[in-house]
Order: sequence, then structure tokens, then C-alpha cells
Amino acid sequence: MDRILIIGAGVAALCTARHLQMAGRQVALIDPQPVSGGASFGNGGFISAASFMPGAQPGMMRQIPGWLRDPLGPLAIRPKAAMKDTPWFLRWLRAGRDAEMQRLARVIHSLHRSAFDDWKTLVGPQIYGEMIRRDGEMLLWDSDEKGATEATEKALEREFGLESQVVDRAGLEDLYPGLSPVVRRGLIKTGNGYTTSPAGLCRALAELLRRDGAEFLGEKALKIVPQGDGSWLVLTNCANHSTRDLVIAAGVWSRDLLRPLGIHVPLTSQRGYHAMLPAGSATIGMPFIHRGRGIGMTPMLEGLRVAGTIEFGGIDGLPDERRASQALAHARQLFPQIQAKPLEIWTGQRPATPDSLPILGPAPRHSGLWLCFGSGAYGMTQAPPAGRLVADLVLGRQPSIDPNAFRLSRF
Ligand SMILES: Cc1cc2nc3c(=O)[nH]c(=O)nc-3n(C[C@H](O)[C@H](O)[C@H](O)COP(=O)(O)OP(=O)(O)OC[C@H]3O[C@@H](n4cnc5c(N)ncnc54)[C@H](O)[C@@H]3O)c2cc1C
Repeated sequence: MDRILIIGAGVAALCTARHLQMAGRQVALIDPQPVSGGASFGNGGFISAASFMPGAQPGMMRQIPGWLRDPLGPLAIRPKAAMKDTPWFLRWLRAGRDAEMQRLARVIHSLHRSAFDDWKTLVGPQIYGEMIRRDGEMLLWDSDEKGATEATEKALEREFGLESQVVDRAGLEDLYPGLSPVVRRGLIKTGNGYTTSPAGLCRALAELLRRDGAEFLGEKALKIVPQGDGSWLVLTNCANHSTRDLVIAAGVWSRDLLRPLGIHVPLTSQRGYHAMLPAGSATIGMPFIHRGRGIGMTPMLEGLRVAGTIEFGGIDGLPDERRASQALAHARQLFPQIQAKPLEIWTGQRPATPDSLPILGPAPRHSGLWLCFGSGAYGMTQAPPAGRLVADLVLGRQPSIDPNAFRLSRF
């Protein structure tokens, strides 16, 4: 009963479990998939400690019709799913007002800023040195024109003591030989970096957990049932498990696990895709995110990863593999010399909240039930500090991050 149960074995669950384990608690993770079988498997790998802008921003509404009309646009919406998500979109619109965006940016920064230190604490210096780089992240644009929120972002960056570096065309050509002339601008976020393998990093973390006594139960949680004595029963497809403290870290699927308890979470799926190319298909001197095209390219242990695009298609919607080809088409426009065929394509679902803040902390009205999901496009960045925050709350320790902004009760 003293063992803390965690539903999920993606990056959010693993980081929370490791923080709890490092504090001396027994943990067990329940997930029918192998470690990092969800969104944590194939993401872009960026660790964006120095990024803080929420997804919803002023002026975005004006851009959306153009994105939707463009067959290579960064956004796709399936109307049926969008109808169901109308309340989510209304909240998203509210989050995009200027003052609210700035408030959210400050909260996101409070979580992101320690991402690298937290990764080092969780995996130790050796794995950190092998799998994590903190050499900066490039942002690219095809246009010289500044975006509507760039001035605000710059001002917030100064407030947070962060730096970014403008890179001219010659600098871009040095870092990316053969880069198409369509790319006009570059900006290095010097405080960011990446992992050379999100799945590999998750597996390394799982190995440490196992070594130190964590259990991995290959089961699917079907229902969570509160017991009269204040404990929780997790009914899986194979067994019953009891616990005093239960952490829900099941990514986008957390929403449906909580609904039978009367707990409604504004969470939706932002599906993304990746295409893997053989290593060296293009020379990438620094991993980059192209802001207008909605893709990133990261050199990884497994090859060169082109990841991105956002598709609102509902949690149960089928993937549309053509969107992976669209991401690849962008890569080919940026690097016309790329000849290689993709090695594989992949899709995963970002667990997205309308205000871009994860949902962390106690479930309302249910003692011993803890929430840790909703990292959206930032799971590799947020999971280590978010896991620490949730672990602190479970253990009754004073958290160093203000937990209030992350509570579900904010909705
Ligand atoms: C294309 C793409 C690119 C991205 N790029 C980046 C990036 O560069 N940097 C970054 O920081 N983030 C990035 N992200 C976001 C990041 O991948 C996610 O935020 C993060 O992986 C979410 O982690 P999670 O552990 O919450 O969810 P998941 O990794 O999805 O894990 C949830 C787990 O819960 C399990 N589960 C579900 N239901 C049950 C159940 N009933 N019982 C038991 N287990 C269950 C699932 O099997 C799954 O293993 C990207 C995402 C995508 C899709």
C-alpha cells in the first residue's frame, strides 16, 4: 500500500517516478506499452529551457485560415473533432489575449528554466553527458518581417535574463550548407538544447528506475475506483492494484481515465508526425525549428529527424500519414539536395491544454489522486521539473515552483 502507483510510462510518468524514488519511495508504473510508447517516443527532442511562449497568441486567429488552406500548412483541423472540442477552442482564444499570454509566459518560464538541471539530477552526469546537448536551438523564418509577438517575446526574454543571438545569412550558410535561399532569418536561443534520442533517454531513465527497485506493470488501467478507507483501486485488464497515492500521467489519455470520477479536464490531442532520414542527409550544424513551417530538424542517434505539424483530430482519430510527407516536403524545400527516402514515419499525440500549461497537482475533491499531464509541445522540457513539482506535493514537501498556476482548479 505504501507503494505509489503511476499510470503511464511516458516521459511525464518516468520523471515523476524517479523524483519519488530518489526521495526514498517505492514506485510502480502501469502502462500496456513499452516505455515511451506514446508521444515521448518520437518527438523532436528539443529541451527548450529558454522558451516560454504559450501556443495561443494575439493575431493568430488571422493566420489560421491561411494555414488551413495551405496543403503544406503547419495546422490541420478535422471539423468533427473540432466541433467536440469547441469549449477547448474558446478557452484557447481567451488564453491568446496579450495580457494573458504574458502571464502564461511567466508561468511557463518558472517551470522550464530548470529543465537541464532537473534532467541531470534524474539521469546523473554520465547519461546526461551522453544524451543531452545544451548548445542552443535555432529558430528560422522565410520572411524578414517580424511576427506580431516577437517584440513581447524579446522584452520577456530580457526580463528573464535570457539571451538570443541574431544570425545573418552567411552564418546560416556556415551552419547549414546547402540551405535554400528562401530562409531569410535565424535566431539562436542560446539557453536551449536537445536530446540525441527522446526514446533512448526515456529508456535510460527507466533502467535507472528498475535498477533501484521500481516495478513496470505491462497492464492497461481500465478504471480507477476510490475506496472507503481513502485508498485507490486501479482495475487493470489483468489485476487489481491498491495504493494510497495514485499519479495519473497517461498523456492525452488521462482525460478519459478521469471522467468516470466526475473530473473533467480540458485536454485534447494535437497530433504530430516525424519522418526519419538517414544521418547526414543534410548538414545540420544546430537543430532548428522553422517557425512559419511548423517543423524542426534534429540530428539524432537514429538518423535525421524531421518532426512537427499540428493536427486537431480528436484523441481517437486515426492518423493521416500524409502529414508526415508534408513535413518531409518542407525539409526538401529547405534543403533541396536531400535525395534520401525516409527510413520511417511516426505519429504521436501531444496532450494539449488550451492555456499551454500542464495540469499538475492534486485532483480536486479526491485526496491521494495526483495529476501530471498536459505538457503539449514541451514534454521533454517540462517533464523533469513538473515531475519534481508533483513529487514534492505528493511527499508534502515545499515545492520550489509555485504550484498554484498549474492546478486543475484554474479552469
Ligand atoms: C511530433 C511531435 C514533436 C514533439 N517535439 C517535442 C520537442 O521537440 N520537445 C518537447 O519538449 N516536446 C515535444 N513534443 C511533445 C512531447 O512529446 C509530449 O509533450 C510528451 O511526450 C508527453 O509525455 P507524456 O508522458 O505526458 O505522454 P505520453 O508519452 O503520450 O505517455 C502516455 C503514456 O500513458 C499510457 N497510457 C494511456 N492510457 C493508459 C491506460 N489506460 N493505462 C495505462 N497506461 C496508459 C500510454 O500507453 C503512454 O505510454 C512533441 C510531440 C510530438 C507529437
